[in-house]
Amino acid sequence: MKDTEVFDVAIIGAGAAGLQLMYELTQTPSDDQLKILLIDSGDRSEKSWCFWQSDPSIYSHLIEKKWNHLAFVGADGTEIKSCVEPIHYQYISSEKFYSYFFSEYIPKSPGIIVVEGMAKEVVKGDGIFNIALASGESFSAKKVADSRFNQEDWQNSGGLYQHFYGKFIRTDTPAFDENKATLMDFSLMQKHEHFTCFHYILPFSKTHALVETTVFSKKKYELTYYKELWEEYWKTKLGSIPYTLEKEEMGSIPMSDYAFPLESGGILKIGTAAGQVKASTGYAFTRMHQDAKNIVSNSVRKRPGRFRFYDHLLLSIIKTDTKQLPEVMKRLFRSVPMPQILMFLDEKSTLIQEIQIFWRLPIRLFLTHLWKSFTRSK
Ligand SMILES: Cc1cc2nc3c(=O)[nH]c(=O)nc-3n(C[C@H](O)[C@H](O)[C@H](O)COP(=O)(O)OP(=O)(O)OC[C@H]3O[C@@H](n4cnc5c(N)ncnc54)[C@H](O)[C@@H]3O)c2cc1C
Repeated sequence: MKDTEVFDVAIIGAGAAGLQLMYELTQTPSDDQLKILLIDSGDRSEKSWCFWQSDPSIYSHLIEKKWNHLAFVGADGTEIKSCVEPIHYQYISSEKFYSYFFSEYIPKSPGIIVVEGMAKEVVKGDGIFNIALASGESFSAKKVADSRFNQEDWQNSGGLYQHFYGKFIRTDTPAFDENKATLMDFSLMQKHEHFTCFHYILPFSKTHALVETTVFSKKKYELTYYKELWEEYWKTKLGSIPYTLEKEEMGSIPMSDYAFPLESGGILKIGTAAGQVKASTGYAFTRMHQDAKNIVSNSVRKRPGRFRFYDHLLLSIIKTDTKQLPEVMKRLFRSVPMPQILMFLDEKSTLIQEIQIFWRLPIRLFLTHLWKSFTRSK
């Protein structure tokens, strides 16, 4: 690489958002091949990326498992199960995603250069950005897309998190319905006053699954605490069927209705740093895909404001009326068909459909939170 080389685009962070943007930038055939610089600090912490789509799905060659049934389990243990075809709930492991991009896609794309390093500073001068790395190296680019997200700022602002602790397990005897993904199971008693806990099951076969403990809270608890919750759920749910642990997954997803800037000083923000994680659910993968497409096609990146408002109401309930969440979710899953819920969560529903959805939820609770947010903003 020449010192004076100016890249067309520099992408900071080769995670879900950075790689999807890189992919979209290289999809349109052009006479002038884009020169793309991908800078990543090398964090390859494992994640399970799930999303829902009808066929043909994005990255269909990377999908490891699809489910055509989804389930919700209320605090009383009652299951609501539904076929969501033609939609499928789909799973891609970050392992497979990274391996495809770094071992196949990038080596076949001569315009992409990967640099491993920690980006420290981006400075604009004369229409060109200079990106300084912690190693002392620096690079120049005409445009910069930045996925750095400051966890500390977030923590200090009292933001809410979705904390995970999951186990990929194998059992000797059949324990799972392999056609059904359980999105939320509230059946483990809500012990703690300050957070909501539910479980999530992705069965890859009758004897192989990811079972995950999820906690919505401001505070991060000791890992041993999540592990205890997990064991208790397993015992209650599956009567202590013996299992072999394949691997663990853990992490935190920020949940915020804060209007993250999409751009700062001419630098495009992407991914979590651009607020692409849906505040009330934590889903982000397909939103980042759509955002990458919007960036490449110069389309509007903003989402309709009313969806931010819905997220705001739900977050307000999660934060201050934590114990109500299982009931709100139960009402939602009991009275609204699941494909419609998925459309709503994808922010593709119409206003009429949204009114119909809210009408079926505990309306007084939502009105209380509506009032709270109104009086708070005055
Ligand atoms: C455990 C877990 C499970 C999740 N499951 C789902 C799911 O099922 N479905 C869904 O839609 N969403 C899910 N999410 C949410 C979201 O999709 C992911 O968090 C997603 O990875 C966020 O994408 P990102 O590009 O913003 O960040 P990341 O994927 O974390 O990528 C950021 C990249 O930036 C690099 N980086 C950071 N700082 C620097 C720096 N200074 N210089 C250079 N590089 C840097 C890191 O190395 C990393 O590779 C999950 C999140 C977690 C944590």
